[in-house]
Amino acid sequence: MIQTDKLWSQIVHYYIDKKGYSKEDANNIAQRIITREISRKICHDILCGHLVDEHINKKNQCLVSSCNCKEFQIGDKK
Ligand SMILES: [Zn+2]
Ligand SMILES: [Zn+2]
Repeated sequence: MIQTDKLWSQIVHYYIDKKGYSKEDANNIAQRIITREISRKICHDILCGHLVDEHINKKNQCLVSSCNCKEFQIGDKK
């Protein structure tokens, strides 16, 4: 899983300490960065939505057998 707490506090501290942002602004930035990070780690097939880590070779073949991930269906013809 993604260590969002650690990443979050790193980003917030960076923007407060180095950039002089307010805590609220720093939190907003952290929110945006983490949302982007998470969406990059989640399968873009809307029927899937599992973490890319759950895919074979981090590609589009999902290891969750009950999943409807399109690419998985292609690799698993019945
Ligand atoms: Zn999936
Ligand atoms: Zn998938």
